[in-house]
Amino acid sequence: MRSGWFVVMALLAGCTEWRGWTDMPTATVTPAGPAEWQTVVAGGIQLWNDALSARGCPTPFTIGPGGHRIELVPAERWEYDTAAGYTDESAIEVREKDGSVRDDGTVVHELGHALGLDHASIDYGPSVMIGKGHETRVVLDRDASAAACALGCGPCAADADPYAL
Ligand SMILES: [Zn+2]
Repeated sequence: MRSGWFVVMALLAGCTEWRGWTDMPTATVTPAGPAEWQTVVAGGIQLWNDALSARGCPTPFTIGPGGHRIELVPAERWEYDTAAGYTDESAIEVREKDGSVRDDGTVVHELGHALGLDHASIDYGPSVMIGKGHETRVVLDRDASAAACALGCGPCAADADPYAL
């Protein structure tokens, strides 16, 4: 599993296109953590499912056993300096916040990576996919459009933010 994180980090560093989980456009996810975390994950999934189904896409995320693990990692177990979340081809990890469940939009952001989105440019305005703590807590219209493009169920605007910074 650890080698997978390095793959993602190398992809982001090299600006190679990240295409998300290979089972997209639909994937099963399995939250791992306390009940409050399960609620946070379910809320993030609902945001993406609602935004994409409104565009005629299949709802991408279903909660169930044996899916992509979405784990809340205790702060003392987090091995990275600053990042609050990581996504690789099989799982999502989110660092807890000050000893409590993280509910600041990080999981919504990481789910965007799973859908195939890389980081958005702040030059195009707010987005859940702007990194380093500047992301919104919700899926905005531009985010949903970019995800629909990435999933192949919506148009890809030629002048849109490439979501690949
Ligand atoms: Zn990110």
